[in-house]
Amino acid sequence: MWNEPTPERFASIPPLYRTEKIPFDEKIIYLHFFIPGQDTKLDEIFPLLPTTRRRHQLILLRYSFHWYIAEFDGEDLFYGYANLGDPQMAEWGYSSFAELREPGPYGIHVIHDTLWTPKKFSDIFQAHEAKPEPHTQVEVRELPNCDFCKANPTPAAYDGKTTFGPWANMCETHFQRHGIGLGLGKGQKLVLKHKRPENIFPGLLLERGPTGRT
Ligand SMILES: [Zn+2]
Repeated sequence: MWNEPTPERFASIPPLYRTEKIPFDEKIIYLHFFIPGQDTKLDEIFPLLPTTRRRHQLILLRYSFHWYIAEFDGEDLFYGYANLGDPQMAEWGYSSFAELREPGPYGIHVIHDTLWTPKKFSDIFQAHEAKPEPHTQVEVRELPNCDFCKANPTPAAYDGKTTFGPWANMCETHFQRHGIGLGLGKGQKLVLKHKRPENIFPGLLLERGPTGRT
């Protein structure tokens, strides 16, 4: 990682679960980590890179990766919103600082955005990054079972209004069949609060950037 956060920055982040009653849009994002992609404005990241030499080693992913941090366990675990190159798959969950600080495949470094100032989650998205629709996700400690999979209990992925009228917990299959969509008055994706951290470089899409050298 380039530009690791200072102890003061770490100390400013609320502990795990402290913000769980605060809706996603209202949560404060204290830290921003990212890996630049071809959708990143290079002028904006050059001030964050330590040396000219490293600028020439910059490898650009096809799409940028972002981690927006809202909570920290004081040791290694961050809780926040991760967009690993695909805004449609972006979600709230845990990330390990130990994993973020280690160089990834091809010597790719995660950059700590030292120019970041704490701001509300709903205020962080720029034009170049798709913003999640509000009220489309809700945090739960346990996934309920799908109300339609009676014979074969299956964890639900959504809580939403059905084409029949009433709300129900639905697995992916039944949400596709009976759900009416996501958003206020329609439905929400269930996000597991205890989700384990995952490999931060799943199926990395690599393309050599204009200044990249592999
Ligand atoms: Zn089902």
